[in-house]
Amino acid sequence: MSSLRRFAAGFVLLFTSACAHSLSTVNADTVVRNVNVIVWKDQQAQIIPQQSIAIRDGNIVAVDADLAVSETAKVIDGNNGYVIAGFTEMHGHVPAAVSFGDMPARYANDMLYLYIANGVTTVRGMLGYTNQLQLKEDIALGQRMGPTLVLAGPSFNGNTVESPEQAAQRVQEHVAEGWDLLKIHPGLELEEYRAVAAAAREAGIDFAGHVPAEVGVNVAMAEGQRTIDHLDGYLRFVDAIDRPVTEKELSQLVDMTVTSGMTVVPTQALWATLIGAGDADALATYPELDLVPEPVREGWLSYYPNQASSYFNTEHATVQQENRQRLLRALYDGGASIVFGTDAPQLFSVPGFSIHHEIRYMQDAGMSLEAIYYTATAAAAEYFDNSHDLKVGHVAPGYQADFMLLRDNPLASAKALREPTGVMVRGQWLDRASIDAKLNEIRAAYAATND
Ligand SMILES: [Zn+2]
Repeated sequence: MSSLRRFAAGFVLLFTSACAHSLSTVNADTVVRNVNVIVWKDQQAQIIPQQSIAIRDGNIVAVDADLAVSETAKVIDGNNGYVIAGFTEMHGHVPAAVSFGDMPARYANDMLYLYIANGVTTVRGMLGYTNQLQLKEDIALGQRMGPTLVLAGPSFNGNTVESPEQAAQRVQEHVAEGWDLLKIHPGLELEEYRAVAAAAREAGIDFAGHVPAEVGVNVAMAEGQRTIDHLDGYLRFVDAIDRPVTEKELSQLVDMTVTSGMTVVPTQALWATLIGAGDADALATYPELDLVPEPVREGWLSYYPNQASSYFNTEHATVQQENRQRLLRALYDGGASIVFGTDAPQLFSVPGFSIHHEIRYMQDAGMSLEAIYYTATAAAAEYFDNSHDLKVGHVAPGYQADFMLLRDNPLASAKALREPTGVMVRGQWLDRASIDAKLNEIRAAYAATND
């Protein structure tokens, strides 16, 4: 070693030992420097300025102001931007891996990419299909790009369940197949539902989703359903579908929810569309519609003209929607556990892009951006801690390296979440240029064929 290099090495040593935080070098393969990190203290967001995030093997190993990392680490300059944990889509859908109706072969990979392109780095898939578990495994092994998946199996509904005994048997099968949770759909009879619940509790697997009409939210809460999605069954329980729900009824519903510890996934934007309370003209102009295959797009665009589902409420959509928004507000004010979901991809809810519409609806209901981001990050972290031992939802050591880098502070405006500067997905960095290139490729693949 030349004397000059010895001098330089000694200088570095002296210099670093003078800094309280950087006595040792963190072994990392990637470091993101010069960022303001959004962290949670209880349900309050705090911005910690001028941080570095060190990542190794897909996980965050250190977040600190003065961080010495291995010389070989890839350095990403965050340019004084803002880092927020990747969002969790708690009611998403994931296509089958191999084929999916008339969809092109690339469909599954494209939908998975749309999630991560928008910083949605975890998806709880709420309807199982053949080969989906393969997708989950491919992603976990780094062999396919996509969000971390937690998957419900094929649904328990009036068609797939014939008796309480068969329902309990089916729970065993889903556990054996390796699904993470069970999906409840409408159509189950009360005794069938109770049989699913009992078998699920015994097997230690969650069940979640809808509340069948014969069951009721009170029973779902008592039986330990893990989440109620779409606020399903709430307004039906107090018979307030076609008239304004009263304050007394709202507080009854909130009390039941909080007392039982139920977690809800509101999916307000999607449900407004579904019941016919959306603005058809505005929906038709969502630019992200270019990113789904033409048959999907055409199906969505025909939904309003055809009023194409049993959920469509021609007479009372407006009052039903107002009730749903008041209910969300009441649940939020009452301290209920709320997680974030958009039911993508369905009905104008394009994976990842749909977060912007859901945020808008939640804001309209009266939630702050801070509260909304909490539902999409730290609240999901709590859920996964309790249910799946998955470390996502925080930018902190010990968590998966899943986060968005944004130019502006998202707590000041949700616009900051649009077009992230980059997205970190389990330690893999997607910069804006690569995201744009991929989105362009998907857009080209799904361009209209006949105009
Ligand atoms: Zn769904």
